[in-house]
Amino acid sequence: MGKPDTSHLPYESSFVPEILTEDHRIKFACHPGVSCFNACCKQADVMLAPYDVIRLKHKLGISSEEFLKNYTVPWEMDSDGIIGVKLRTTEDKACLLMDDSGCTVYEDRPAACRYYPFGLMGVKHTEAKTDEQNYFRIEEDHCKGHQEESFLPETKEITLREYRQSQGVEEFDKHNLDWIRLMLKKKSAGPSVGTPSVESLQVLFMATYDIDRFRRFVTSPNFKKVYALEQETYDEIENDDIALLKFGYRFLKQVLFGEKTIDLIEDEVKKRSEERKEIWDLRHKLEMEQAQLNDPRYDPEVMGDEVMRDDMLKEMEQAKQAVQDKDKE
Ligand code: SF4
Ligand code: SF4
Repeated sequence: MGKPDTSHLPYESSFVPEILTEDHRIKFACHPGVSCFNACCKQADVMLAPYDVIRLKHKLGISSEEFLKNYTVPWEMDSDGIIGVKLRTTEDKACLLMDDSGCTVYEDRPAACRYYPFGLMGVKHTEAKTDEQNYFRIEEDHCKGHQEESFLPETKEITLREYRQSQGVEEFDKHNLDWIRLMLKKKSAGPSVGTPSVESLQVLFMATYDIDRFRRFVTSPNFKKVYALEQETYDEIENDDIALLKFGYRFLKQVLFGEKTIDLIEDEVKKRSEERKEIWDLRHKLEMEQAQLNDPRYDPEVMGDEVMRDDMLKEMEQAKQAVQDKDKE
């Protein structure tokens, strides 16, 4: 196990440089009785993933714009200027979502809070086709959960898999996986995809974090002028933030990496004009044949050739049928 690349990790705090798998066994306990209760929330450095924002804005009953403005601060995730967000804190570093009794959004707390004092790390080996999800451990002096067994002897040893289940983090990982993959892909693509333009960085931020603004963007007349998005997708994303987030990842793959899954209107126009051209060609052929039939030089009595006339009539019928079929499409 080598030292992991931690440049993208959410914590400025001391992580342990060891990659852990789901089978790694831990002995850790956190409950309202621990001497350090809420100490982690008083020194919060919590990076948010897109699904966290959706959960929290719903919990607080506000829009993504309001949530981002009032509860987050931006931070630069990489040297290309990709912007992520962290939970805003007081000057003393206390999370704004905490009160004396603890976390006020506990049921909807972010994935990083659920994982703490562990963290999820997406890893893509250069030679591998797929990425893997691994974990790391954070050891901070204020967190006494690692020593819980000394004052809570019944604390059991569990695997990280069981710990994740107990924290309800799987749903978060499911909805954030595409985002992690997008970031890994961006990172591993390196200079081959070039430095993203300011516009594509803005779209990236909007589609991942500012979901309500992204919905207005996707349903705007300007978007519809450029993209031929199927009605089924519009119906899905109308009121469903998760569906919209999913569509956002699809859209970003097209914008950032050229993985085209949404037709551009200009392609549609081109496709339709090609189809029209086919119909006009068939019509032209038909007219030419009609003209030939009316030409006295092709009169069977003049030409003495019934077979030729029959062939031409047959061809005309076929051309007529083809034009009718095309018109029906
Ligand atoms: S969201 Fe809740 S659990 Fe997370 S740092 Fe804030 S108060 Fe603590
Ligand atoms: S044990 Fe760690 S995670 Fe639990 S309250 Fe204390 S500092 Fe926070």
